[in-house]
Amino acid sequence: MSGVAFDVASNRSAFPALDQEVDGHPLVYLDNAATTQKPRAVLDALEGYYTSDNANVHRGIHELSRRATEAYESARSKVARWIGAEDPTEVVWTRGTTEAINLVAFAYGLDRLGEGDEILLSILEHHSNIIPWQLVAARTGARVRYIEIDDDGEWILEDLPELVGKRTRIVALNHVSNALGTINPVERVIGHVRMHAPGAVVLLDGAQAMAHMDVDVGELDVDFYAFSGHKACGPTGIGALWGRKAHLEAMAPYQGGGEMISVVERDRSTWAAVPHKFEAGTPNIAGAVGMGAAVDFVESIGKPAILAHERGVVGYAIERLEARFGDRIRIWGPRAIERRSGVVPFSLDFAHPHDIATILDSEGVAVRAGHHCAQLVMKRYGVPATARASFYLYNTTDDVDRLVDALGQVENFFG
Ligand code: PLP
Repeated sequence: MSGVAFDVASNRSAFPALDQEVDGHPLVYLDNAATTQKPRAVLDALEGYYTSDNANVHRGIHELSRRATEAYESARSKVARWIGAEDPTEVVWTRGTTEAINLVAFAYGLDRLGEGDEILLSILEHHSNIIPWQLVAARTGARVRYIEIDDDGEWILEDLPELVGKRTRIVALNHVSNALGTINPVERVIGHVRMHAPGAVVLLDGAQAMAHMDVDVGELDVDFYAFSGHKACGPTGIGALWGRKAHLEAMAPYQGGGEMISVVERDRSTWAAVPHKFEAGTPNIAGAVGMGAAVDFVESIGKPAILAHERGVVGYAIERLEARFGDRIRIWGPRAIERRSGVVPFSLDFAHPHDIATILDSEGVAVRAGHHCAQLVMKRYGVPATARASFYLYNTTDDVDRLVDALGQVENFFG
């Protein structure tokens, strides 16, 4: 819910790290798909926690431990509301999306998959939504299958009848692609899976969605939803897995240690209730508190307003890049602006992506270059890497102009 009008200058001023120079140039930060910058409110929450409430949670019978526990659990409730979950105990804190997906792969998949069972992914996945399934498939005899993508970075849904069937046990897909920016038609796939593979569970990797789009796990009709705090203004090292209570209760613990037990005997033990069963050891308490502050911050602006702003900036970026470089630039991903998030991946025919990023860096413009942990996408398009500019709530059309000017330097050097 947005209470105030979208004001990019005020958004920008909330992020101290944006106010600096790199190599004598004011920083233009266009690597938001890798991680967003952190607003002052999140930095204050972290400092406030450590300066006045720091203690271990759920353990100490003293004031600071009570306060730390209250802050940790109220952040969990906030995150639950943020994703439309009614029950905060369905939210498991993790290190991020990667750990959340591994948790499902190992605590759900390993015990339930057998020879010939199928796990459906897409080739558009981040490695963190491929490798855990390959590991589990190798141990269980299950088979990993993939939805392919077309030239515009869209899933080829015509293949679904052949890909989804009686053997499908797990469907794990990204909500929004980090490599191409595609906002995937997850609702259509989930509808198909529910009809043709009713026994399958669906996990969505929301790493690139949470910062930009309203997410409601009930409306999406998923079984699991994974995301990272650091991609949505929160701290690194904190994220969450939302799972349906019945699944979480039926799953064995993922890791053993303190916090996750009920009674420990010499030869066997019993487990704490969910979500604590999956939170062995001292958790990232400060991270959770910072994540709660990030939720408040993002919600004070409102995700529909953020997405609308990003679309304006991305539309301007695509227009300017194509006008400036013509057929020497290839912009990857969906053509229609409403089909993509704030991600603009591109290749120039006169420079390698790593050289592009290095020269842009010397002009104070931070972009990512590489395979973006999506080597299957790179293979699909026959390129080793791309350059990627990714925009967020503090980026402006001036940032785009700086990007285009800096790419002019790349052209001067190599073109
Ligand atoms: N999935 C997607 C789509 C991502 O973009 C990323 C990170 O870039 C991840 C998963 C992994 O997130 P993390 O490294 O925060 O665990």
